[in-house]
Amino acid sequence: MANILIIEDEEDLLLTLEYNLKNEGYQVFPFATGEEGLEWVSQNGPPDLAMLDIMLPGMSGIEVCHRLRMDERTRATPILFLSAKGDDSDRVVGFELGADDYVVKPFHVRELMLRVRAILRRSSVVPQLQESSQEVFGVLKMDRTRHRVWLAEQEIFLTAMEFKLLDLLLSNKGRVQSRDTLLTKVWNLNNTSVQTRTVDVHVKRLREKLGPVGDAIETVRNMGYRLRERPTDTETSTS
Ligand code: CA
Repeated sequence: MANILIIEDEEDLLLTLEYNLKNEGYQVFPFATGEEGLEWVSQNGPPDLAMLDIMLPGMSGIEVCHRLRMDERTRATPILFLSAKGDDSDRVVGFELGADDYVVKPFHVRELMLRVRAILRRSSVVPQLQESSQEVFGVLKMDRTRHRVWLAEQEIFLTAMEFKLLDLLLSNKGRVQSRDTLLTKVWNLNNTSVQTRTVDVHVKRLREKLGPVGDAIETVRNMGYRLRERPTDTETSTS
């Protein structure tokens, strides 16, 4: 049974979420402030999903996200933001900090439940059909089974979403993946429920994390993204 941490200061909404998530069979840990939520995490370890409101009294949801990402144990914990309309810039910051998804209030509880299920499904399941668990591209090395990635022998930490994105690009070297394809295969969603901007933000962040190999993810105008067929010399050398 998945553990879901919720941090939301609107009491009615918090109760609604708690009620509905429990109905779906999840274990729910609801808190009204970021401080209390982080305290729970420090005592109980990472939840399977953290649902964060952005505007909170005291520590903001963005700050909570930031702290979760800084902590080794929660670096890859899926994070979903509950954001009010007009929080656009916060939302972008949230994605840059490694949030996996967001919903804008007011939202339909039913839709949120589908998103939750999708996030938990993709974060818990190691992709099937793995020919080999290790993949090497220049100085980049991925271990699919252990969900770990190294850059020139230095481990880097990707969120569940970034990992799936990289995995898909690596498995399809030299072939363009459209944003719609990425949304379907990485996010398990069709393009009606998540904006294609989500893809762009994740690709941008993944590129940054991949350092010298980041440029191997090419933007194909009006099409999508593609990982170069072969690494270049700079992507192969460690200096
Ligand atoms: Ca709030």
